[in-house]
Parts: sequence; C-alpha cells; structure tokens
Amino acid sequence: MTNDGRITTDRFFGSIEKRLENLQSMLEFVDATKPAEPTLRDWLKSNTSAESESTIEKYIAFQRSIDLLELQEDQYQTTPRGTAFAETGDPELVFEALLENVAGFETILQTLDNQQTTAAEIQASLQEAYPEYQLPQAVVGRHLEWLQAIGAIEKQQATDRYELTPFGRQLLRQKPDQKPTIDDLEVGSTYDRVELHEEYGGARYRGIAPSADHPYVFLFTGDSGMEHGYKDEFRGDTFIYTGEGRTGDMEMTGGNKAIRDHTEDGREIHLFENNDEAWSVTYLGQFECVDWFEEQLPDTDGNRRKAIRFKLEPVANDVEFTASNLDAVDTDELYERAKGAATTDGGATQQTTVETTRTRYTRSEAVREYALRVADGICQGCGNEAPFVGKDGEPYLEVHHLYRRSDGGPDHPDNVVALCPNCHRRVHHGKDGDEFNQELISRAEKGKLNHSGRKTNLSKIQLQPTPQVPVP
Ligand SMILES: [Zn+2]
Ligand SMILES: [Zn+2]
Repeated sequence: MTNDGRITTDRFFGSIEKRLENLQSMLEFVDATKPAEPTLRDWLKSNTSAESESTIEKYIAFQRSIDLLELQEDQYQTTPRGTAFAETGDPELVFEALLENVAGFETILQTLDNQQTTAAEIQASLQEAYPEYQLPQAVVGRHLEWLQAIGAIEKQQATDRYELTPFGRQLLRQKPDQKPTIDDLEVGSTYDRVELHEEYGGARYRGIAPSADHPYVFLFTGDSGMEHGYKDEFRGDTFIYTGEGRTGDMEMTGGNKAIRDHTEDGREIHLFENNDEAWSVTYLGQFECVDWFEEQLPDTDGNRRKAIRFKLEPVANDVEFTASNLDAVDTDELYERAKGAATTDGGATQQTTVETTRTRYTRSEAVREYALRVADGICQGCGNEAPFVGKDGEPYLEVHHLYRRSDGGPDHPDNVVALCPNCHRRVHHGKDGDEFNQELISRAEKGKLNHSGRKTNLSKIQLQPTPQVPVP
C-alpha cells in the first residue's frame, strides 16, 4: 500500500451489523438491473436508512471509489469484485476493496496484532504512519467501523479496547493463494466445509456458494426444506435442487443466477450434502444445470411463494482425452472429441519421436476450443475482429451456447458459437436478443458458422448418456 491512497471512508447505511448485508443487497440490485442514477437513488431511499440526497450521493460515490460499482453509459454496474461480493457475501472481498483503495487498514490490523488497543492509540499509530494526513478521531472511527462490519476486529465493551478476531488475524497473515485442483475431492467422501472454503473460496453460510477466485459454484443440500414438506432429491439421474431466497418469491439473481449461467461463466458445479455434524459435508460430485423451473413452495415463514428449482445432472467424467496440447489436435478431430466420441490416441496428429508431456482435457474444454478455433478471431455475430488479445495471447471471444445449457441445450460443438463481448451481451441482455439468437441459429443451420460448411441440426443432437452418481 502506498501513501498516495485516500484515507477517508464514508459512513454507509447506518449500523455496523447491517452494513455488509445492505451493501450486498445493493450490489445484487445493481447486478440484476443495471439501474440509472435516479433508480439507484430510489432504491437506496426505500431500502436503507439513508434519507438526504447528499448522503445517498456520498454512498454511491464511495462504492465507486472503492471499485465495487462503476458507471457505464449512464447505467450503474458492478465491477467483477462487486459481482463476486453480490454473489458470495464474502467479507474478505470488501476488505480487499478497502485495502486497495483507502489507506490505513493494514496499519490498524498491525497495531492490533497481539494487543488490545484503544481508538486513541490506533489514531496515534495511524498518524505516525501517515504524517501527511489530518486524522481526526472521526476518520479513524469510520475505519474501525468498517473493520467491525467485516468481522476483522471486535470492541470489548468493558474496556473500550479493540482486538483482532481470528478472521482479522487470518487477513493479517494472508499467504499467497494456493490453487489446488478440485480433482482431489472424491465422491462419497466426507469433508470439513470450513476447510473446503479455505481451499477453494465461497461463503460458508450459504447454500449456494460461488467462489470468487476459483471457477466453481458449490452447492449444499440438506434437510432445511424438509420441515416444509419438500426437499432436494434425485429423480432418476436428475437432482432437483431448490434455489436460494428464504422468504418471498425467489429471483434469478445472485447464487440462483450463478447456477443457471455456470456453463457460460466457465464454472463447474460441485454438490455436497450436509451431514448431522456441524460443517461436515459429503461430496456428491460434479453436476451441470440442464434446466430449471418455477414451483409454488412454502418459504421459511410458511407462506407460499414462487420457488426456483434447478435440474442438475451428473457430469460424465469418462470422456476425457489427452493430447500434448489442444493446438495439436486438428479441427475434425477436435470436433469429434468435443462430441465425446471415443478415442484411442487423443487425436494428436503431429508425428513426433520425442516423448512429449500429455495433458488431460475434458470434452467441454474441447467444445470451447472448437468454437474459438472455427471463429478464428472473428466474432460470429457481427463479423468484426475480436476487440483485444486475451491473457492467453489469443484473440478474445466468448463462447455462446445457441440453446442455453440451462434451457436444455446440449454442450455440443454444433450448439456453440464464438462472439465478441458486445454481441454476447446483446444476445443475452439486448431488447432484440432473442431474434439475434434466432438469426445465429439459422446461420448455424445453413452451415455458415461451422467448419468446412458442416450444417447443424440442433434438434437432432442428443446429450451423451451420463452415469448415475452413487448416493451415499
Ligand atoms: Zn460481435
Ligand atoms: Zn451466451
């Protein structure tokens, strides 16, 4: 952290206890509706304790200054971190946002390391660290409020001294992220949920826990629905999973949206069952959302409301193939691998006498690679070149399923096209999105979007049969 950072935070939504909750609802609202300024102001007025226009203006400006919110063409949007917080409610994300954009937070945690300290002592050490700033007690107080809201520090009422919580100690001693692969999990084995989230991210109190820094959405199923007379359950191969939202109609936002869009977001769903013992969960395996529907079910108050239920199907893991790398697989072979056809040699066509390292690829990686390969850097929606080069050095395009996975469309090479971010947004969020998608489908059916003019007949594509996951 540099001394260039600002050293002021604004009060936000009143009480410390409600702060992160309010912040999360606001970001969920922004993520779902992309509101213009007046709409966001109205929402703040009716959903928080904020009253005056100038206070509301400060709230919005503050969220923008710590990079959770951004304004694009007169519409508010969440930043990637803002979206992640809307989905996960993970306080660490707010801590990172504050740490990167406002000076002083690290100094406070260090001051509190292994000792209880008064606000005046904290003020003194901050002033010492940042001699160029004026640091009245009120400014320091707001920093302390944020750290309390995040759960990093606690105030001892008897002594008026602050101390680090275990979470605060963890933030202070954060080590670089280890990125293990999820393959370490075994179906039917029992895991400690707390350790699971420490390893892979995701919030431990949520039934739907998308990870902000790993491409996973963790789902937990238990008997909370049982008391109301319904439960998550297997119907044949399909697992019926009830979405989130304790009272009132469920909305397709936050965790529910994360499930519906997981394929296009490039995230895997991993399902766990809660055991009787606290934090003990059993791994049920990797699933994908193939469909969802609405049903009238009781909420936690016993009132009937619209509930969202997802149809999850186990992901077949037996269609992996190996190759030295995907570039070495020619397009015809890639198409076959993407369909899940059996292979003996992995389709590597290059002859080599040197022993090469082979990597395991999943069928769905082949589907993505196929779409990008065929597009060859040109958006299949508008015909323009990819707007920029991605981190992998390839032209940046996004893979779009013509028939959405969650609406029953297959993850099949004939069902994907590669679009520039603009066209992809248009197809999902544009007023003419459905017509645009229809146009893409008819172009695909005429053989204009596939390699060597291959015509698509999407209605004839069948999903690969998937093996039943053993239920413990
Ligand atoms: Zn485009
Ligand atoms: Zn799409």
